[in-house]
Amino acid sequence: MTLPQNGGHLVLVALSHGHRRHRVLLFKSAKQSSGATISTSLNDQTRAELEARAVTPGSGPGGAAEGFRIARGRRGAGPAVAGRRALAVTAGKAARGTIRRLGRGSGSALPGRAALAVDARLLAALAAEISRGTVLVTGTNGKGTTCRMLAAMMRASGLHPLLNREGSNQPAGLASTLLAHATASGHLPADAAAVGVFEVDEGSLGEVLGQVEPFAAVFTNIFRGQMDRYLELDYLVRRLERVLLELPADATLVLNADDPRLAYLGSELTNPRVWYGLEDLGHRRSGVDHTSDFPRCPRCAGELRYTSVFYAHLGHWECRGCGLARPEPQVRAVQADLAGPGSSRLQVVAPATEAVLEVPLPGLFNAYNALAAAGAATACQLPSAALTAVDQVTSGCLRMEQVSVDGREVYLALAKNCSGFTEVLRAVLGGGRPGYLMLGLNDQARQQEPDVSWIWDVDFESLRGLVPSAVLSGNRASDLAVRLKYARWSGPGGQSDVAVEPDPVRAFRLAVSRTPRDQPVWVVSTDLALRQLREWLRRRGHVGRLWER
Ligand SMILES: [Zn+2]
Repeated sequence: MTLPQNGGHLVLVALSHGHRRHRVLLFKSAKQSSGATISTSLNDQTRAELEARAVTPGSGPGGAAEGFRIARGRRGAGPAVAGRRALAVTAGKAARGTIRRLGRGSGSALPGRAALAVDARLLAALAAEISRGTVLVTGTNGKGTTCRMLAAMMRASGLHPLLNREGSNQPAGLASTLLAHATASGHLPADAAAVGVFEVDEGSLGEVLGQVEPFAAVFTNIFRGQMDRYLELDYLVRRLERVLLELPADATLVLNADDPRLAYLGSELTNPRVWYGLEDLGHRRSGVDHTSDFPRCPRCAGELRYTSVFYAHLGHWECRGCGLARPEPQVRAVQADLAGPGSSRLQVVAPATEAVLEVPLPGLFNAYNALAAAGAATACQLPSAALTAVDQVTSGCLRMEQVSVDGREVYLALAKNCSGFTEVLRAVLGGGRPGYLMLGLNDQARQQEPDVSWIWDVDFESLRGLVPSAVLSGNRASDLAVRLKYARWSGPGGQSDVAVEPDPVRAFRLAVSRTPRDQPVWVVSTDLALRQLREWLRRRGHVGRLWER
């Protein structure tokens, strides 16, 4: 099936190049004269444009999606530029070889940094050679998982997605990823089905957009997790607004309608949008979610009213002041069954398709990741059958990894901030099943977690009585112990046997010894303690190296 977008797209691309700045300026001057009416009419225009564009999943069954192709192609480079690029690739590959020989893993941003020091435009040049263009995924939580889910959908559509390594989500990390594929002359091998799927740190989006021109930008959510790095969320959102001015005018914004911080993002831009959201009111939480910090209205800063809250500040909202409301999502989960600790089933309605998604990952937060991926697949016009390929996704190495250690069932889960910790614990203990836990808390992981005060916002209270034994680890284990005492897990009347052992390996052994043989051991931890434990398990052959799978 030929998609109408192909014909229309050339026009859009031709209009967009170099015209973004001009058009935004035009819009700003118009806005000054006539105020909010323009904003409304532009939003209407955007809706009309989106409806007119083919957001319907296209292409025949099993065939590669033909619906998007915005690659800028190989640009002819002069001999000096070509020489520098080849040198940059050589430098990057040499750095990677050295790191590997030193046994430091392959996920480092160092090769990219070495290469970019030689040729600052290397990332831009390599990204422009990805035949089908690039999707960027950003937000506080779920970036990596959303990328892997989208990649599975793309593979099922006959495409060859290139993914960056989780956490390598700044320009140097992206450069490292592309370097690994580049030839010695500094080019990506020709591959008509190649497509970039890159997670990008929300603080680095502007820098990345200076080098990579995506055809879609996916936003998962904005939580407090990065507050220590980005000061405050309003500042981050304003910064995102600014950097979105760099987005190509034809790029589709894929936005979480349930997150008011995101739903109004780029409201002045005429880019097409795909909104996604949860419609199954069975997941409505009564009362105010313990982890949520409810945002103000993104348009008038008035108070938001929620008719439903699903998770943190995600839900169905509207503004009492100006009437701004949650956008009607085009991609929506009409039913979400959170089957157990390991999986969920989503009934998703998207333009021109309905699908049941078997998501092999737990919890509402992964249901949202699957919806974000389905929204991105819609923006990419993948064949409708592609959505169900989400069942091929693995949890990644550090998200929720199941391993067997001497016949014992062990789950390793990364939780790096308040909402992540709360949701992982809810997934583990959901349905009232008791769980034997090891909880890790560090403050030394690459300066990402210097402030651990967020543990006071984790909803430990509602899980009281569900944990017979908890071993606390990491260099801030004692902070966790105090937190659990206040949550009345331990102390007089507490039902949990709580032990503190800062060393992750000793803590793990202790947790195993305190867990009945027929019960799994759940390890929920911030980055560093989990990595130390995982490295110990790897040396004993229980798990592979990071990123081997
Ligand atoms: Zn308002």
